[in-house]
Amino acid sequence: MSLQWTPSSWRDKPIAQDVVYEDKEHLEKVLTKLRRLPPLVTPVEIDRLRSELADVAVGKAFLLQGGDCAELFDDCSQDPIEHKLSLILLMSLIILHGSRLPVVRIARIAGQYAKPRSKPTEVVSKKEVLSFRGDNVNGYDPSDRNPDPERLLGAYFHSTATLNYIRALLSSGFANLHKPLDWSFSHVRSPQLQAAFSGVIESLQDSLDFMKVATGGSGGLERGGAETVSLYTSHEALLLEYEEAFTRAHGITSFQSFSSPPTRGHSPPMSRSSSHARVGAANSLPHSPARTVRIPKSPGLSDSASSLSMHVQNGQKRSDGEVKYYNVSSHFIWIGDRTRQLDGAHVEYFRGIANPIGIKVGPTMKADELVRVLNVINPDRIPGKVTVIGRYGADKVAEFLPGHIDAVKTTDHVVVWQCDAMHGNTKSSKTDPTLKTRHFVDVIHEITESMRIHREKGTILGGVHLELTGEVNEQGFSVTECIGGSMELEDEDLSFNYRTHCDPRLNYEQSLDVAFLIADHLKA
Ligand code: PEP
Ligand code: MN
Repeated sequence: MSLQWTPSSWRDKPIAQDVVYEDKEHLEKVLTKLRRLPPLVTPVEIDRLRSELADVAVGKAFLLQGGDCAELFDDCSQDPIEHKLSLILLMSLIILHGSRLPVVRIARIAGQYAKPRSKPTEVVSKKEVLSFRGDNVNGYDPSDRNPDPERLLGAYFHSTATLNYIRALLSSGFANLHKPLDWSFSHVRSPQLQAAFSGVIESLQDSLDFMKVATGGSGGLERGGAETVSLYTSHEALLLEYEEAFTRAHGITSFQSFSSPPTRGHSPPMSRSSSHARVGAANSLPHSPARTVRIPKSPGLSDSASSLSMHVQNGQKRSDGEVKYYNVSSHFIWIGDRTRQLDGAHVEYFRGIANPIGIKVGPTMKADELVRVLNVINPDRIPGKVTVIGRYGADKVAEFLPGHIDAVKTTDHVVVWQCDAMHGNTKSSKTDPTLKTRHFVDVIHEITESMRIHREKGTILGGVHLELTGEVNEQGFSVTECIGGSMELEDEDLSFNYRTHCDPRLNYEQSLDVAFLIADHLKA
């Protein structure tokens, strides 16, 4: 592994799941445009998430990450965004109530467009066509499968519109904890779920009222105060050309106002913990030469990351501002199970950025390989920087997770252990083998097994990673993509409202079922 890192050094490495564009000139034109477009998120927000994840790593907060397998440009619309937001908020409220832990919310949203595929082609209506790679690569319509660089711009603008509406909703009281029933819970038909949720609301409202009286204010029950909550964005960083275009340098000198660490004063009491001291200490460790560089005050830092990289001389201290690279397209990005090769392009890209990052880990990951990947992507051992996202499958988690935990325990890495209870549990429907499905019992089994194993090992399951949706059809019925849950969906029901263009998602009710279950287990 060479020490020289730049936002484009991944280009010298073998790349898995590459997208080959025919019109290279067109691609270059699009990338030039993307490099000039403004960030979607800021380093301050990214650093804040990293410090919140350091809390998660030591059991002082719980991480809830969820959303679509793949967002679609067509779903960038008012109702779908509101449904996604309200579902994640409801789930977090249920978990917060049960566990008494602050919940860090990360949505697979505002950029989750690119998909890795197991095969480059697929058969649609008896014709072999290129596989659908996500809306930022090609179209779902079989006649539109050639990769089109223009779609990268589409991804940026749809991400921007989505995030803009989320920010607007959050700053307009959508997440006001005094009004959670407005978060479109009303269409949930299950009387048990309605009753369980009313119980949560009543007791929460009691606490809020008490805190108001006791503190003379909102009580700060939530991060950001009781009036609103924070929500972070995430996506799989698969298309490295796109990610590179949003990899921007931020130096202490030139971006003082942007890159100063988040003021602790803004965090409500529940988010403060002793682990912050550790984060502070870790942040002040000497930076690896590969990730921290010094560049001249001028020329302007606002130039594109790639032009900046010309100034970057790894390991060489230059006279003024310290510079870190942030991926400003999203707060959190992860490496998929198909692109996490130790010597591959994705690991190379990830090792240079300051964002908190995830790495998907399945049964094919060797324990010593996991440690080697962690050493590469987190050389400074920053707590909360890496989330290990286990996706073993309900029947394999007990076989593989213990070895991975043991291997990491022998190191000084403080990781967030997260359970992706979806990707190891995909099956074909029995009634229609063309439909992919997941069984609710498998999802629950993988989560509870992960909790049990961590308890036995003295480590902490910090969070879950789920594919879910609040989407409903015109009649208000939730999607029918996964089997089971309190609605007792059966295999024969799947075709009723099967809408995903990618992996099957937990629907509104099934997601709330999972949240109640997690809350119960965290209580225990
Ligand atoms: C995903 O998260 O949608 C995904 C493709 O996961 P994995 O890389 O774990 O298969
Ligand atoms: Mn998926």
